[in-house]
Amino acid sequence: MRICVLGGGVIGVTTAYFLARDGHQVTLVERHADVAQETSHANGGQLSYSYVAPLADPSVLPKLPQWLFSREAALRFVPRLDPHQWRWCLAFLRACTRARSRATTAELLGLGFLSQRLLHEIVAREALAFDYVRNGKLVVYRDRDAFEGARGQARYQAQLGCEQHALDGAACVALEPALAHIGGEIAGGIHTPGEEAGDCDSFTRGLARAAERNGVELRLATEFSGLRTKGLRVQVAVTSAGDIEADAFVVCLGFQSQPMLASLGVSVPVYPLKGYSLTLPNASAWGAPRVSVTDAHHKVVYAPLGERLRIAGMVDLTGMSAHADHERIALLARQARETFPEAGDYGALQTWTGMRPATPDSKPLIGATHFRNLWMNTGHGALGFTLACGSAQLMADLLAERELALDGDAFAPGR
Ligand SMILES: Cc1cc2nc3c(=O)[nH]c(=O)nc-3n(C[C@H](O)[C@H](O)[C@H](O)COP(=O)(O)OP(=O)(O)OC[C@H]3O[C@@H](n4cnc5c(N)ncnc54)[C@H](O)[C@@H]3O)c2cc1C
Repeated sequence: MRICVLGGGVIGVTTAYFLARDGHQVTLVERHADVAQETSHANGGQLSYSYVAPLADPSVLPKLPQWLFSREAALRFVPRLDPHQWRWCLAFLRACTRARSRATTAELLGLGFLSQRLLHEIVAREALAFDYVRNGKLVVYRDRDAFEGARGQARYQAQLGCEQHALDGAACVALEPALAHIGGEIAGGIHTPGEEAGDCDSFTRGLARAAERNGVELRLATEFSGLRTKGLRVQVAVTSAGDIEADAFVVCLGFQSQPMLASLGVSVPVYPLKGYSLTLPNASAWGAPRVSVTDAHHKVVYAPLGERLRIAGMVDLTGMSAHADHERIALLARQARETFPEAGDYGALQTWTGMRPATPDSKPLIGATHFRNLWMNTGHGALGFTLACGSAQLMADLLAERELALDGDAFAPGR
């Protein structure tokens, strides 16, 4: 089949790669001069296969007033006169039940484990260099109730195949000595030895070159502006470099998937959750963590990427604009400096803003639309790097009408 993949983030590139390996003739359209220049560029770098529990959970309900009124909250909500934002928020609130949160955790763990296995195969086959490490992940809690909640979640996830250990504060510092500065504040932590980290930008760029070797045509610096349809079939993708004809079209446009498809009457419940990252270029050998650390209190993640330390956090539900909020970036930098004061030269921090393409229930949308040859693989929220390979495999299996490795209905766009 001739397949046109729209969008060259980590999702579009993995999708194109898996489709080409199935023998399809694939063209990928990306508006920037290289792939991974938007949300996949400088994210948290975590391949956190066991930390997939959705944001929509009953435990977040008491925090809603804080999200609305505090500028220092990890999650900030600014209401807009935008029906799409309100619909998304209502769907999010409906997903905040214990039963749904547990079912979603189980489904995302399945997709996560599939992704991990496939990523290992790709790393072995393509020899990609992306500062990839299997360094384990330690989530530390400064609040005893939150730690007890996390222990309950770990017990539930143990039944689903996750290997996680609860540690007290002293054991957390013994595991990651760079935490010594806040050691007295740590109520406990959950350690997952099998978790990994890597640079999503280098992974995506390396995989794009591997995709080219497998026959994918990369149309970079090419703006896509719409789809021309006849009845229930898409005929061409209209781009700045001319029309692209194909037998099938796969939308992987991140948070822009929603406005792009709305014009065709295709509903995509994806809303951007803006976040920020900081990169310390020359992280200290003793003051920066070598284990991936999540500070659950501030919802900040830390990952070593070679010589660098990547710090990421903040969830801003504030609209479609990707402008950088310097107050939020300064808050993130302050929290990082207070947690790991010796991690490196904070004067040399590089800052970045990204828009997580989030669905209300935190599950990606992988599958068909009401157009016969129009598909989507989008809505990966805070887990696009982690879930990319499994999502691409699922997409390729659906297009090939093969038996699926997991329950496809769980991720179907019309679920
Ligand atoms: C602060 C932050 C931290 C994160 N940390 C992690 C983490 O630690 N681990 C993890 O797994 N995930 C993390 N994520 C989430 C992850 O980065 C995203 O889920 C993932 O990058 C989404 O990939 P995507 O390909 O769907 O979107 P994108 O990377 O945004 O790709 C979409 C592509 O479509 C292109 N495009 C859009 N419109 C057009 C058009 N009209 N014409 C042509 N091209 C177009 C864009 O240029 C872009 O390249 C984080 C995100 C943020 C913001």
